[in-house]
Amino acid sequence: MLIVQKYGGSSVAGAARMSNAAQRVAETRRTGCGLVVVLSAQGDTTDDLIAKALEINPKPPKRELDMLLSTGEQQSVALMSMAVHRLGFNAISLNAMQVGMTSSSTYGNARIKHINTERINAELERNNIVFVTGFQGVNRSNDITTLGRGGSDTTAVALAAALNADLCEIYTDVDGIFTADPRIVPTARKINAISYDEMLELASLGAKVLHNRSVELAKKYNVNLVVRSSLTRNEGTLIKEEVKLEKTLVSGLALDKDVARISVVGIKDEPGMAFKLFSILANEKICVDIILQSIGRQNTKDITFTVERSLLDDTIKIIERNKDILLYDHLSFGDQIAKLSVVGAGMLNNPGVASIMFEALFDAGVNIHMISTSEIKISVLIDERSADKAINYVHDKFADYFNA
Ligand code: ADP
Ligand code: ASP
Ligand code: MG
Repeated sequence: MLIVQKYGGSSVAGAARMSNAAQRVAETRRTGCGLVVVLSAQGDTTDDLIAKALEINPKPPKRELDMLLSTGEQQSVALMSMAVHRLGFNAISLNAMQVGMTSSSTYGNARIKHINTERINAELERNNIVFVTGFQGVNRSNDITTLGRGGSDTTAVALAAALNADLCEIYTDVDGIFTADPRIVPTARKINAISYDEMLELASLGAKVLHNRSVELAKKYNVNLVVRSSLTRNEGTLIKEEVKLEKTLVSGLALDKDVARISVVGIKDEPGMAFKLFSILANEKICVDIILQSIGRQNTKDITFTVERSLLDDTIKIIERNKDILLYDHLSFGDQIAKLSVVGAGMLNNPGVASIMFEALFDAGVNIHMISTSEIKISVLIDERSADKAINYVHDKFADYFNA
């Protein structure tokens, strides 16, 4: 039996948490399982390293930033290995280069391409607990990359898939996946089991409890995935192919505050304008989320869309650079907005969900700026300052529909 465990930043923050995690690792090892353990940087280490870099250079070269950020995870694996050695176990720490974990070359947002299992398997044969740095890869030029914030989850699932592990356990600071972020919605309830598709939707819509690519990979390789707390003994949440429970209308809510809105006002109302605008943005690798086009008036129309906040400045610059082609009147934009989403496979063909959500927002006195729907989710854009209140109202309104 082979288990891959992953401990997040808060689960290894400081010596006490580190030793708690080491105890849990030891406990698992005592059952006789082969054990590969992925670690994140301790506590706020990654944020602190970013702050340090920005102090030196407000626009640090991305390669150098990855070189710096990857050190956080390297500290964790070395310390943890020392901690379990102290408990009397054989252990070894490895970074992505030593494992042979290759990735694409996009610094700051690389994708894992291939994992060489030779070294890890050899260490398992030697009865070592193998600690592996999360969040990092090595690109074609033999340079260190990072996988995007929260990327250690993806390292763990990718390792579980590559090693054909029996189980992948993600240890974090909450008891599992809840119907909404329990830090924002105190009445949120723990979900016992959720499907890959619903979890993927929640993660992509802002529930940062799992990196969305980790869920994508878990689905693709059918990895047995569990999210649970490193601080309690409670059973966690199982993420799997199909959840054969009574069909629930909604499984959870997600809130994303990393949103900015841009309106291109007074664009010509003729065929091809949306194509021009979005192909220019696509060429510049700007990912656009929700799009809304207003009804045309006096031969012009407005196109509004959202992007990640960090892309707002660049997106505006790109559009302004192309004013001659896009022939708009002016731009308006804002970054004090949030996206609130309701996710559930059971809402397919159920017209009631949207109206319940909108009624809750009406009760909360929250204005909706944009709406976007798909088969298993409804998202609305609202002002960021009312977002926490809104998600609590919507959560209350759906209280009887959750499966948790
Ligand atoms: P780690 O450092 O272990 O990776 P993260 O901070 O990345 O931990 O993820 C755990 C956090 O995710 C929780 O503390 C919680 O505030 C947040 N979260 C957001 N949405 C949810 C949800 N639906 N269920 C559980 N936790 C959630
Ligand atoms: N340490 C990285 C981060 O803070 C990766 C992770 O924790 O998953 O984003
Ligand atoms: Mg995380």
